[in-house]
Amino acid sequence: MTGSPSPKPWIEAIHAYVPGKATTSDGRPLVKLSANENPLGTSPAALAALEAARGEAASYPDPDSKALREKIAEVHGLDPDRIVCGTGSDELLNLAAQGYAGQGDEVLFGRYSFSVYDIAARRCGATPIEAPDRDFTTDVDALLAAVTERTRVVFLANPNNPTGTWIPTDEVKRLHAGLPSDVLLVIDEAYAEYLPTKEQGTGFALATAHENVLVTRTFSKIYGLAAERIGWSTGAPELMATLNRIRGPFNVTTSGQQAGLAALGDQEFVEASRDHNAAERTRLAEAIAALGNHGLRAIPSAANFLLVLFEGEVTAETARDALAEAGYAVRHLPGQGLPQALRITIGKTQDMDRVIATLRQLCGEAG
Ligand code: PMP
Repeated sequence: MTGSPSPKPWIEAIHAYVPGKATTSDGRPLVKLSANENPLGTSPAALAALEAARGEAASYPDPDSKALREKIAEVHGLDPDRIVCGTGSDELLNLAAQGYAGQGDEVLFGRYSFSVYDIAARRCGATPIEAPDRDFTTDVDALLAAVTERTRVVFLANPNNPTGTWIPTDEVKRLHAGLPSDVLLVIDEAYAEYLPTKEQGTGFALATAHENVLVTRTFSKIYGLAAERIGWSTGAPELMATLNRIRGPFNVTTSGQQAGLAALGDQEFVEASRDHNAAERTRLAEAIAALGNHGLRAIPSAANFLLVLFEGEVTAETARDALAEAGYAVRHLPGQGLPQALRITIGKTQDMDRVIATLRQLCGEAG
C-alpha cells in the first residue's frame, strides 16, 4: 500500500475552534477582553487549593471527581449521582453529541451560537443544522420548525455566546415541550451565574424532571478557573451513564477538583464578580448607546461580555485595530457570520474606562 492516512471527510470539513487572542499580530501583549474570562481573577480560596494540590502531582486524580460532585450537589440542591464532571464543559458538549448523534443524524442549534456546537456535531459525523435567530436572540419557533425526524441533539446556550442574549424559563420550557422526547436538549449554562440569582435554576429544574435534558456548567467563567479546565453536567441517570462510558477516565485534574471545590465554597467571590460584571456591563452598554448616532449598537447581554455592532462609518475592523492600539484584544467574529461585530469581554473598571474612551475617540466624541 502507498499513500498517507486520510482523515474522515467529516473531520476534514471541521474549521478548528478559534480561541480569543492575547497579542497583536506582531506579538505585542494585550489585555485580553476576547475570551470571556473573569477580570477579577480567581477566588483566594481556590488559589490556595491549587497551591496545596501541587504535592499530589505524581498520582492520578480521583476518576469520579467525587468530592467535587458532592459539593456541586450541595450548592445547587442536586443529586451527586446525577452529576458528571468534564475537562471543561467543552468535553461534555462533545460527549453529548457523540453519545446521541452520528452519521445521518442532525444536531440543531441557533445561528450565532457557540462555535463548538458545529465542531461537536461534525466530530461524530452528524450534520450541523442552524436555525435562524430573532435579532440575535434564540428563536424557539425557528428551532422547533427546524426539527426533523433526523434531529438527535439540540444545543441551547443560555445565556448565549457570542450574542450575550438570554431566553427566560417559559421560553426554554416551550422549546423542551415542543421537542420529541427522544431528542436530547443540551442547555449550556456556561454564563448562567451572571444572571440575577432568581433566574438561574431553569436548566436544573428541567434536567431533574425530564430524561432528555442535559445541563452543562463551567468553572471557566465566573469562578475564574479557565486554566484548570473544569466543567460539569447534570441530567437523568441514563444520560450520566452515557457520558461516563465515553469520557476520559481521569478527565479532571486533582488541582482542578480541589480548586473547583474551594471556589464553590467562596460564594462571596462569585457575588462580587456578578456585581462587578453587571455594573460595568451597564456602563459599557450606556456608552455604546450614546454612540448610536455613529452606528454603534450593543445587543442586550445577560453574560460577561457585550456584542457590539458597527453599522455606520466606524467599522468593526477599525474599532478592533484602535482597541489593539490602546492595548486591548477583543473578539472579531467574521468566521461566525458577524463581520460587523466585536465581542467585548467585561473587564476591570479601568480597562472599561479606556475601551469606552477609545470608542468615543473613534467616533469623534472624545473630550
Ligand atoms: N459554552 C459556552 C457558551 C462558552 O462560551 C464556553 C467557553 N467559551 C464554553 C461552553 C466552554 O467552556 P469550558 O470548556 O471552558 O467549560
